[in-house]
Amino acid sequence: MLEIGFGFREGVAVALFVAIALFESLFPFRKQLGRWRHFGKNALFAALNSTITGLAAAGMNIWLFVWIEENGIGLLHLWEIPFWAAALVASLGFDMWLYWWHRLNHVFPFLWRFHQVHHNDTDMDMSTALRFHPGEILLSSLINVVVIAILGISIEIMVVYKLIFNVNVLFHHSNVALSERWDRWYRFFLVSPNMHRVHHSMRLAETNSNYASGLAVWDRLFGSYRERDPREIVFGLEYDRSKEQQKWFNLLKRPFRPRGRPGSGSDP
Ligand SMILES: [Zn+2]
Ligand SMILES: [Zn+2]
Repeated sequence: MLEIGFGFREGVAVALFVAIALFESLFPFRKQLGRWRHFGKNALFAALNSTITGLAAAGMNIWLFVWIEENGIGLLHLWEIPFWAAALVASLGFDMWLYWWHRLNHVFPFLWRFHQVHHNDTDMDMSTALRFHPGEILLSSLINVVVIAILGISIEIMVVYKLIFNVNVLFHHSNVALSERWDRWYRFFLVSPNMHRVHHSMRLAETNSNYASGLAVWDRLFGSYRERDPREIVFGLEYDRSKEQQKWFNLLKRPFRPRGRPGSGSDP
């Protein structure tokens, strides 16, 4: 069993968060006006998500992992396999699931209502990784419970996977100027900044590409991989670009207003 103390895990997460923020300040990909204001607005979503939905999800997850462990639930409990093999299968399985879940968020109008709040950010930096509507977090937390149970993932594996996953998500949203050569190396394994910038493009065909968040391979495997010179990309959606629409409370209310669909690029 892998023992990971609460303090150690939090410490590593904070250190990596600060490192990415520093990297973003020292080597920015684009000049940003009002960076901290933008950061504050997006961080407010993270604060809301971790207090309301986060607490509910954490409580549900503790119950879930105890239930899985005590009753030998899920595919990974069907065979006696070493810990490293279980970790590999669980991480690959869950990472592929997240690819498909993200893709479904672009396909179904009901899911897009919530997910568009992540996409209508007209600027992109590490704080965009925090900008998820609580409705999306709630829906994904609920459905993830089912997937974790089907696979039978243990809490130790999930903690390590989530730490690597979250750091990578912060990094590929960040406003860092990574050279194309390094970016290419990086996205050979994981989703890189240049790869995810295409996903935040205003062009619909690009918004609906590069769905992976962890391993980059899923987009190549399932035919949704796209490349474009990141310097040419305009971030955000064709709609929701006004100052009024970008106000925090309007973003929070966004899913309950009808306009805006993944295929409706001409919406105002
Ligand atoms: Zn998306
Ligand atoms: Zn994103």
